[in-house]
Order: sequence, then C-alpha cells, then structure tokens
Amino acid sequence: MAKRDFYDVLGVSKSASPEELKSAYRKLAVKHHPDKNPGNKASEEKFKEAGEAYGILSDSEKKQNYDNFGHAAFEGGGGRQGGGFSGGFGGADFSDIFEDFFGDFGGGGRSRGRRNTNNRGSDLRYDLSITLEEAYEGKKQDIKFSTTEKCITCKGNGTKPGHSPDRCTVCGGNGKVRSNQGFFTVQQTCPQCQGSGEEITNPCVDCNGQGNKQASKKISVTIPKGVDDGTRIRLAGKGEAGTKGGASGDLYLFINVYSHDLFKRSDENLFFEFPISIADAALGTTIEIPTIDGGKAKIKIPDGTQNGKQFRLKGKGMPYMRGSGNGDLYVQVNTEVPISLNKEQKELLEKFREIENERSNPSIKKFFQKAKSFWKN
Ligand SMILES: [Zn+2]
Ligand SMILES: [Zn+2]
Repeated sequence: MAKRDFYDVLGVSKSASPEELKSAYRKLAVKHHPDKNPGNKASEEKFKEAGEAYGILSDSEKKQNYDNFGHAAFEGGGGRQGGGFSGGFGGADFSDIFEDFFGDFGGGGRSRGRRNTNNRGSDLRYDLSITLEEAYEGKKQDIKFSTTEKCITCKGNGTKPGHSPDRCTVCGGNGKVRSNQGFFTVQQTCPQCQGSGEEITNPCVDCNGQGNKQASKKISVTIPKGVDDGTRIRLAGKGEAGTKGGASGDLYLFINVYSHDLFKRSDENLFFEFPISIADAALGTTIEIPTIDGGKAKIKIPDGTQNGKQFRLKGKGMPYMRGSGNGDLYVQVNTEVPISLNKEQKELLEKFREIENERSNPSIKKFFQKAKSFWKN
C-alpha cells in the first residue's frame, strides 16, 4: 500500500506552523492512543502513522528533506541522513506531548530522564589552530576557556551550607502541577521550580543559589596524530556544568591546520614540488628532499625525466588518525628552463641545438609528423 502523505495524515497544509503540527498530532494521538482503543488494529495503525508523520515534520531538517524528496528521503539504502526512519518513535521529542496528556506515560523513568535533559549544561566550542607538523606528531596542549562549573561551596545544590532546599510550595515537591481541561487532567512541569520539586529559601552566597559559577578552566587535551583541518573532537562532559543534578555539556574542539609552505595535504597523502634544472632532468641525478617528520629522503631521478613527473615515497605521508600506518608522499619534479645565460652557457646550448636530433626529442618529432600531414591535407 502506498504511503500516505504526511501532511494528509495529520490533516494540515504544507504551510502549517510547528504549533499547528503539534496540535494536529496531539488530537490524533489522543484519539487513537492504544490505551483508549484496546485491541483496535485500525486505531493502532493510525496512531503509528501519525507518530511517524509528526516525527518527520516536527524536525526542521527532516521536514525539509521530506518537502524536497517526499517519502524517498527516508527510504533505506539511499543514504540521505544516513538511513531510513524506522517505526513511530524515531527522532522527535514526543515526551512533552505524552507527559502533558498522559501523565506518567512511559513510566517514571521518562520524566526523570527528561528533567535531566533539560538541566544539561551547554556544549562549548573551542577552535584550535595547529601546524601540519603538529598534526603529524599529535600533541598534548593545555587549553583555557571560560565556562560554568559546579559551585564548590554548595556542591551544586544552590543552598547555603547547613541548609537544604525546601519542598516547592507550588507542586508540593513532585515537580508537576495538574489542571483539568475538558475530559483530561493535564499535567505540566511546575512553573515555580521547573520540575525540580525544590525551592531554595537560603541561597548559597557564592553562586546566588544557582549551583553553578562562571569559571575559567584549563584542561589538557590530546590532539591525535593525523588530525586534519576541520576535524572535530568531542570531549564528553567537559562543557558547562548542568543545573540541579543535570549532566555537564560536551566540549567540541574544532581543529584548524595551517597550510604549509612546502607540503600540500590531501587526506593522508602529502604533495611536494621539487624544481630541477633541465640538465639534471636530461642527465639524471639524485635529489634530497625534506620529509614532514623533519628528516630527509633521497630520490633517484632517472635520465630523461619529463617535467611534472611524480615520484611516490610510500609511508612518508600523514598518519591515519583511525588505524595504523601512514599515507604517501608524492614528489613532483618541475624542470626549470634556464634564464640569464652567460656567454659560455649560450655557446654550449647553441652547439647542443645543432646536434640535437629526432632520437633525443621524440615528442617534437611526433608533433612535426602530425603537423606535416595536416598541412598536406
Ligand atoms: Zn553555591
Ligand atoms: Zn514546584
């Protein structure tokens, strides 16, 4: 059976606002909820269908994909968004809807989990610039940033030492308030204590009862070998402190690798251009080149090496950040036509021109053969 259009499922227009989507979904979810329609397969299907539609349309990124590509955006294999949307409870945050309408739907664990989610500290971003050599070696570095930390005086609970938080007078300590609306009882997070169930009557003077303080923090971070420009490193729990027992946020290191004077990088491979004279290219030579580890490597340039020829040095590139081993170093030789010749050099080259022949310049010979037959036609 063809899948119904998500907007049709919710009975809204394409231009519906997030509030309209939410309200349309609520109506359907309440009407078809399995608790209200035990054993009714059709209702169960409708309930799931509405859940799936809302899951997509309530997420701005998924909605955009759906608007552009329809259901195809979420079908397996295509690789958009890294795979399909499965079942009715995928991405969206349904908990607020269900908490509002069904009280402890999903069990007590859900509301506790959500409380902590809301009190989670913010994630932080730290931009760190390093050289290509540092990216090659990996490094440890101290970074300093301003963040919020748990207040030491009150251990994060926000009360003056020796006091404990009082029970919230509005909700009586359970973090929720109920009111009757139509035929349901609506349960909401307590507006007074934001769900913590506690009220602070003797606030900690150090943090004004917040439990957190602005702080300058210094931590040592390890930059792994092989990081590339744009690599993002997540340091779990190193972001801002949470409030009221919430988890800390994460710290994201954004790595910028400066461009290098000699080496160009493409993933794990490095590229290097080496200028040589036409005499060295024609007669052959051995060159010594720098490598990213600070060392040197020798390359034998055979006689008759043409301009732009690349030589590969296996394992002399950047380390693989995940896994072992290194990429390769490609050395491209560029021949330089000599300028500002002195008298002797000119004479020698003149002499050389006289004795040049077809064997020493095979490309030139080929070109003139083609040009001759072109002029004949
Ligand atoms: Zn405090
Ligand atoms: Zn309360």
